[in-house]
Amino acid sequence: MVGVDKTDENEVNTLRYIPGRCVNCGRCSEVCPHGVFRAGEKKAVLDEPERCMECGACQMNCPVGAVLVNSGVGCAAAMIKAALTGSKEVTCGPECCGR
Ligand code: SF4
Ligand code: SF4
Repeated sequence: MVGVDKTDENEVNTLRYIPGRCVNCGRCSEVCPHGVFRAGEKKAVLDEPERCMECGACQMNCPVGAVLVNSGVGCAAAMIKAALTGSKEVTCGPECCGR
């Protein structure tokens, strides 16, 4: 259909990938802590969408809006780090999504 991007969806979480927008910069596969994306020859490949924990790092780093995710619950890595350190104000760090 003209003007509508095809979207890869799944039934496990809110992650949505729109391959038609991807410029293959590689950021999503670099920042994803769960290996959901991998670099492809011409576009990122959504490899294991069910592994997505909705941290939002891919969406935040994608320069063309090819990844959409509802990350309202926050980053799982930050929450785990906070639990381990006993702090309420811990972020995951710049290598993740920075939350
Ligand atoms: S939201 Fe986080 S876990 Fe999910 S695909 Fe993006 S970077 Fe990976
Ligand atoms: S960050 Fe966006 S543009 Fe870059 S490879 Fe991933 S989906 Fe494609």
